[in-house]
Amino acid sequence: YEYVFDKETVIDFTPDNENVDPGANVSDDSAGKQDLELPITKMKPQLLEAIDKNQVLIVVGETGSGKTTQLPQYLVLDRNWKVACTQPRRVAATSVAKRVSEEMNVELGQEVGYTIRFDDKSNEQTTVLKYVTDGMLLREFLADSKLLKYDCIMIDEAHERTLSTDVLLGLLKELLKIRPLTGDKGNGDEQLRPLRLIISSATMNASKFSEFFDGARLFNVPGRRFPVDIHYTLQPEANYIQAVLTTIFQIHLSQPVPGDILVFLTGQDEIEYLNSILQDINCKLQDTNCIPMLITPIYGNLPQDQQAEIFKPTPATHRKVVLATNIAETSLTINGIKYVIDPGFVKIKTFIPQTGMSQLSTVPCSKASVDQRAGRAGRVGPGKCFRIFTKWSYEHELELLPQPEISRTNISSVILLLMSLGVKNLLDFPLLDRPSIPQLSKGLENLYLLGGLNSKGQITHLGYIMNDFPCEPNFLKVLYVAADKFGVLEPVLTIVAMLHETQALFSNEKNLDKASMFPNVVSDHMLLLNIYNAWKENNCSKSWCVVNKIQSKTMSRVENIRKQLWRYCKNRSEIMDLNNKHGNNTVGSSPISLESCIIKSFISGFPNNIAIIGRNGQYKQQNNSNISMVLHPTSLISCRMKTAGMKPYKIILYHQLIMTSKEFMRDCTPVYKEEWLKEMVPQFFVS
Ligand code: ADP
Ligand code: MG
Repeated sequence: YEYVFDKETVIDFTPDNENVDPGANVSDDSAGKQDLELPITKMKPQLLEAIDKNQVLIVVGETGSGKTTQLPQYLVLDRNWKVACTQPRRVAATSVAKRVSEEMNVELGQEVGYTIRFDDKSNEQTTVLKYVTDGMLLREFLADSKLLKYDCIMIDEAHERTLSTDVLLGLLKELLKIRPLTGDKGNGDEQLRPLRLIISSATMNASKFSEFFDGARLFNVPGRRFPVDIHYTLQPEANYIQAVLTTIFQIHLSQPVPGDILVFLTGQDEIEYLNSILQDINCKLQDTNCIPMLITPIYGNLPQDQQAEIFKPTPATHRKVVLATNIAETSLTINGIKYVIDPGFVKIKTFIPQTGMSQLSTVPCSKASVDQRAGRAGRVGPGKCFRIFTKWSYEHELELLPQPEISRTNISSVILLLMSLGVKNLLDFPLLDRPSIPQLSKGLENLYLLGGLNSKGQITHLGYIMNDFPCEPNFLKVLYVAADKFGVLEPVLTIVAMLHETQALFSNEKNLDKASMFPNVVSDHMLLLNIYNAWKENNCSKSWCVVNKIQSKTMSRVENIRKQLWRYCKNRSEIMDLNNKHGNNTVGSSPISLESCIIKSFISGFPNNIAIIGRNGQYKQQNNSNISMVLHPTSLISCRMKTAGMKPYKIILYHQLIMTSKEFMRDCTPVYKEEWLKEMVPQFFVS
């Protein structure tokens, strides 16, 4: 499908006159007389007093009021505390840490730092304020279950209800009892400093946190927000990307500057796609008297130097168009936005307990989310929000609140973590929302299948190693087997690192001729290995990347991930020993057997990701689930089938399932021999 910009096409929007924007609390006449002080600054004394008096405080406030950037600074500067502030998203953690280090005039990585997976810019000695992803703070519990480093933990963006945030709140609830405000009194011989917890959240969900912490105090930071006019489409739009494009131009050609546009999209692929189209059109507009657009994408994987672009003030001669994932919903505040375009979708990962499969899919947002998004248009003055859906849909089809991640995800790694922290009964562990019983049993079953738990449900030696490993337990199993059984740790490590970055590997994946790259390769896994090796052989050169349509920045990220995983394995000398016992007898010299060893290793780590072709030619999981899957068109196997006209492979191992019009299997390898399944996972694959 080619998206075109056609000046004649317009989308009819209808303004919503009844209920403009319940959140607005500033009247129109105060627009323009903007006061530059952040709302939280006025509240500082009351806020600090409330923090002093309460072990748990829930801070609620409008996005942009200063919770994330200011509040931790107060704690560090006025109270001399060591503080960790969690963020659900990597980009938020890094960009906020950078901003705060600038505000405090210190070097990033010293007094103020961040820790995200595969990237640690903090210093054990000097860092007093650390922004950290919620997942990484969870890992800190493993090293120090009392979090003795910190005086105060701030769980930010708690309303997002990520799995890690929910588990952290449970662990902290217990920990706070061990480190009460009264210090060492009544605590036997242990002299523990008090620990405080601040939960910061958008308004949705806030009272639930208070209940969870036995009626903890809510502190409201009154924000300012200008009214936002909401507009809906008259009809549902079949193709929201096209509708977004048209809407951008409707605004751009009819509305004066300044007034930047913020567009909510579901992921990197959509953002980059729209970005390239807009850049194209921008070039064509050059000779007209139309103001040029400054197009700035923002998503999780965007290199840090480009992330900074969204915060730069827009030159008066331009209009900024920010293409964002829902990171811009509450995590990052971008000044100058006057128009929001919201198709009302979000991409989430869901786990299907019946089958053990996880899939990525694009689903409608909740009402709470689309209201948050609309609010982004009202920070600098009155704004407008264009919703690419109907008012009827808003009122009748959207859920009230987003579903917490814990109710829809694979909880295997959390089970492992809690068990290794000594939680005996998972059902007793305090949680805001409990996972369902099928979720829990599938999670346990999964761990048993991987060898992380034994048949008595106890954590095994392998389980402890899995828990310690910075990726999903499945990957550790793959590496362990690759080392132990075959001595092919290195190439498998490369593929594991590459699999973390396949979404952004190619410059233009849709129109790429992958088949011609390495003529003898069929499997995507082997393609990834070959790409990495070729890149290394070409001295990691940028020009090699350009010629081969590979994103050089992505390869640098892969190299970084690979290095860290390699270091991890080296420190776990037993993995290295297992690998080295194969000595020079490795299969490395024979490419065919190398491939089979690699595939076998992946089977043992991802037994749930096996698709077997049925009589009707459709792929299904072995346990007769009703879900049919097809190869993703970007899979090298699909390319080969098209060009070489091969018969389909009977068994496929896929890495990811993506639900769009169908269930697509992404990053796939053929399983050439059926007996490999039984050989690698006899508990699971029976004949
Ligand atoms: P909250 O957490 O309450 O949503 P923040 O602390 O994130 O609020 O933001 C407070 C203010 O700081 C906002 O006006 C925002 O625009 C500004 N800000 C935050 N990060 C940056 C940045 N990297 N560059 C410029 N301004 C920023
Ligand atoms: Mg914030």
